[in-house]
Amino acid sequence: MILLAHMLFGAAIGAQLDNPYFALPLALLGHYFLDIFPHVEYSISHIKNKEWKKAWPDFLKVFLDFLLALVIIFWFSKNQPLMYACALIAIVPDGFTLINSVVKNKILAAHSNIHEGRIHYLTKQKKFPIFWRIATQVAAIIISIIFINKI
Ligand SMILES: [Zn+2]
Repeated sequence: MILLAHMLFGAAIGAQLDNPYFALPLALLGHYFLDIFPHVEYSISHIKNKEWKKAWPDFLKVFLDFLLALVIIFWFSKNQPLMYACALIAIVPDGFTLINSVVKNKILAAHSNIHEGRIHYLTKQKKFPIFWRIATQVAAIIISIIFINKI
């Protein structure tokens, strides 16, 4: 899923749990949970292909996605630090996958095999209609905002 959905879902977990020892691991696991659902993703193929001169729109998309998540958390929540920590932990798996596409490393490659190959099974191997692939993300975002909202 896009960073926005992952970050808001992580923040929602952080909003519900006061204990960081529970909240942070759950926010990380929440990333894999969301990725099970079929979803659309925007292309960052220039970054993955190391075409750095053409990559600035990819970096801009990632940056705006990240920034929008922070703005929504700031706007809708009481701004507990744990929510921001959970939002950041929630995008670590995509960070690992991105780093793996640029730098080769056995542990990162094993992670990417599970993350991209198995957990993204419904997105990558099955052809769900675009409606459902967008609807899953919209639902994740709306549900997350409900749980983030001024608790
Ligand atoms: Zn992911």
